[in-house]
Amino acid sequence: MALIELKVPDIGGHDNVDIIDVAVKVGDTVAVDDTLITLETDKATMDVPAESAGVVKEVKVAVGDKISEGGVIVVVEAAAGDAPKAEAAPVAAPATTEAPKAAAAAPQAASFAGSADAEYDVVVLGGGPGGYSAAFAAADQGLKTAIIERYATLGGVCLNVGCIPSKALLHNAAVIDEVKHLAANGIKFAEPEIDIDMLRGYKEKVIGKLTGGLAGMAKARKVDVIRGNAQFVSANHFEVAETTGTGSEETGNKKTVAFKNAIIAAGSRVTKLPFIPEDPRIVDSTGALELKGVPEKMLIIGGGIIGLEMGTVYSTLGARLDVVEMMDGLMQGADRDLVKVWQKMNEYRFDNIMLNTKTVGVEAKEDGIYVTFEGAKAPTEPQRYDLVLVAAGRQPNGLLIGADKAGVAVTERGFIEVDKQQRTNVPHIYAIGDIVGQPMLAHKAVHEGHVAAENCAGHKAFFDARVIPGVAYTDPEVAWVGVTEEIAKRDGIKITKSVFPWAASGRAIANGRDEGFTKLIFDAETGLIIGGGIVGTHAGDMIGEICLAIEMGCDAEDIGKTIHPHPTLGESIGMAAEVALGVCTDLPPMRKK
Ligand code: FAD
Repeated sequence: MALIELKVPDIGGHDNVDIIDVAVKVGDTVAVDDTLITLETDKATMDVPAESAGVVKEVKVAVGDKISEGGVIVVVEAAAGDAPKAEAAPVAAPATTEAPKAAAAAPQAASFAGSADAEYDVVVLGGGPGGYSAAFAAADQGLKTAIIERYATLGGVCLNVGCIPSKALLHNAAVIDEVKHLAANGIKFAEPEIDIDMLRGYKEKVIGKLTGGLAGMAKARKVDVIRGNAQFVSANHFEVAETTGTGSEETGNKKTVAFKNAIIAAGSRVTKLPFIPEDPRIVDSTGALELKGVPEKMLIIGGGIIGLEMGTVYSTLGARLDVVEMMDGLMQGADRDLVKVWQKMNEYRFDNIMLNTKTVGVEAKEDGIYVTFEGAKAPTEPQRYDLVLVAAGRQPNGLLIGADKAGVAVTERGFIEVDKQQRTNVPHIYAIGDIVGQPMLAHKAVHEGHVAAENCAGHKAFFDARVIPGVAYTDPEVAWVGVTEEIAKRDGIKITKSVFPWAASGRAIANGRDEGFTKLIFDAETGLIIGGGIVGTHAGDMIGEICLAIEMGCDAEDIGKTIHPHPTLGESIGMAAEVALGVCTDLPPMRKK
């Protein structure tokens, strides 16, 4: 019987797409059209079906790999009488390889004959969470290390214009919202007086404290921070154009930095929509965080986490919101039951939530920004806004660093492919963080940074996390991890779920915030936890326990029999596990099956 390679068919021109699920294992029998893997681009997820039936003899891919058209997914032994399709190539024997799959063409590295101004064991390009974590870990391994960063402070997007400033503002917004809830308990505050300059100052102080701390930690570890715009000039050299001021203005001075190992952590930038004009009333997340004022009417283009978090801040400060989203729901990725709770609590902030709707025109006029929409809930006339936040995604910086001079392959979209050791196609050059793919989250970047640093030090480290959690720091917070109900349904994963409603949580009731719930998702066959979601206050602080449970291979008994402190929101995780076991005494008796 013939061995057949089943490959990725035409996937609409997408290259190096993330594999987010592998639905088959060796020994499985697959029929034509059975799902083999699920791919995720930044726009959509898609299942790749089997083009021939057979028994799986080898699975060539794993979750987290990237693949392009023509990439081999599995090798199957065709069932007797099953003629392989024309494009399926028979193979003699299964081959295994640990090398990264270079779907992007590998360029020829340039040679550099000049002398270097400084030489290091490890040079990290970019001082964001991925970059500084990698550099500090490399220094802790005893390696002579430098970070090259174009801006004046370390911390990258996350500390300077991302995670941290957004949370500093969200904290203030949450307190304002929280005290309003107290009116129902007989405690009434006057309307808040908002000094926007002081609020901005608070945010800046938070950033300063953290970025200052990073500078101190770099010094303590003897990590050199080289200020400037870096470009590869060979597979062992960067040229650094010195920068000055608060931005990345170049002074004209240049130096050459040599490295034995490099870690690319150059991050990502906001995706610009081509039809949107330049106008101070149209901002991206960085502009929104500058908090220049509070508009009366604000449009958020893109109903993802970043847009909704910033919308929460502006709305609490007084803005009325519209949001437009091309997909059929806000906060894609999270299960709809979680999002529903957030949406119900937040509907009052919005005049119009436009789903399945596209922004097709933006015009800056004297009295406002006029936006035209197309789609299910699109208003027929252009709508006027005082501020428009474009939060339609981010793109990687891979094409901006002269990677070709080092022989490093970069995809057309600017991503750099790596293997599980974070190695690019050039073995002594690693890449981490947003520049290597989704999800673009700081905690993923940090873990990848640690892996790259350990490998630079000669260890054999791998990025083998089972799950990466996602959190929307809205009010209430929405947090999820691993297999969601949506993924399970899409991929035919048999699950059982258990839900503990916060309406039965003493702490949530005492807090006056019992709208949320905690949900655990178990593999129906093994009973092991494979996912979970929480909606409610502090959901983001609690999801880590579910991540740990998944990593440790826990079942409901492990979680339910772990004593959680009472009364806490965290005990809702233990109680959800008790629900799964049918032994939760904090809920009415469960019906006997
Ligand atoms: P970055 O943080 O992008 O850092 C890259 C660094 O490289 C930058 O400092 C850049 O100046 C430098 N650089 C690039 N090219 C060069 C060059 N040629 N020469 C010199 N230096 C260069 N993630 C979360 O996990 N939680 C959150 O709550 C969260 N909130 C966010 C909110 C907002 C508004 C935004 C925009 C993002 C948020 N993120 C959040 C995402 C998070 O910020 C990123 O995933 C994270 O910063 C990626 O880290 P990184 O190290 O890969 O790159």
